[in-house]
Amino acid sequence: MFPFKLVYDERYDLNLGAHVFPSQKFRLIHDRLLADKLAEADDFLAPKPAMDEDILRVHSQDYVYKLKSGSLSQAEILRMEVPYSKKLVQACWLAAGGSILAGERAIEDGWAANVGGGFHHACPDHGEGFCVINDVAVAIRRLQFDRKIERAMVVDTDVHQGNGTAEIFGGDGDVFTLSLHQENNYPFPKAHSTIDVDLPDRMGDADYLAILEKHLHKAFDEFSPQILFYVAGADPYREDQLGGLSLTIEGLSRRDAVVFDYARRHGVPVVITLAGGYARNIEDTVSIHVNTMLAARDAALLGAKSKPKSK
Ligand SMILES: [Zn+2]
Repeated sequence: MFPFKLVYDERYDLNLGAHVFPSQKFRLIHDRLLADKLAEADDFLAPKPAMDEDILRVHSQDYVYKLKSGSLSQAEILRMEVPYSKKLVQACWLAAGGSILAGERAIEDGWAANVGGGFHHACPDHGEGFCVINDVAVAIRRLQFDRKIERAMVVDTDVHQGNGTAEIFGGDGDVFTLSLHQENNYPFPKAHSTIDVDLPDRMGDADYLAILEKHLHKAFDEFSPQILFYVAGADPYREDQLGGLSLTIEGLSRRDAVVFDYARRHGVPVVITLAGGYARNIEDTVSIHVNTMLAARDAALLGAKSKPKSK
């Protein structure tokens, strides 16, 4: 049995076919966890779609209306870079509900994962870069609204900057955003996170891990979060089609362990979301994401300083 809940719904898969965004990865991760007997069916929780009022705490009324009514312009759809459909909208509301549920479970159990989400390019009034609804921001706003937390930290290690998240929380002293990303990569221009770390092309494991440690240290020095949302992109991988960093699968797993160790030692509940991953071989993307779950499992079993379950 897994030591925390994995939030998943088969409708996360958008069936995009040959699209560079492999939305089948959500299902493949779920299936791998079961097939390798790493998790059992009971470890998974099905989310409910987020309510519109949850979405509207982050996104503009105009944008939400256009999404729901199918009245986005062609330019707005092109900017999303995923084909518009009612199923897409359903999947995005569901992913946001998944991050809310994972946030609630993390507060109770110390740890939780959304086997989806991490759509960090989604901005208040538009979608871009395969991201339609910023599920992490929606979850943080909902947890704040329910008075379950006041302060949250987002640690984003996707190879692309979390510009949507940065824009949403810019100037908000209660949400600390740390983004480590390749400087010479989408998006251009970049937004301003609380801490942005622009990495040079082809950076490898050792340099990356040292920089990650240094900035996590700084972040936890400056800010005391009550929950940490980890945007665990698989695309800093050296075989990624859209990334230009050179981390190995092993290095990415150590990256995860470093983040989880910081959270654990500070007693901060952790929510994992997946974000990007475009390896030439999709099985590598699946392995990287599964490894993230296993690194969290190992950290959780260490006996977490993360908030113990109240019984
Ligand atoms: Zn990415």
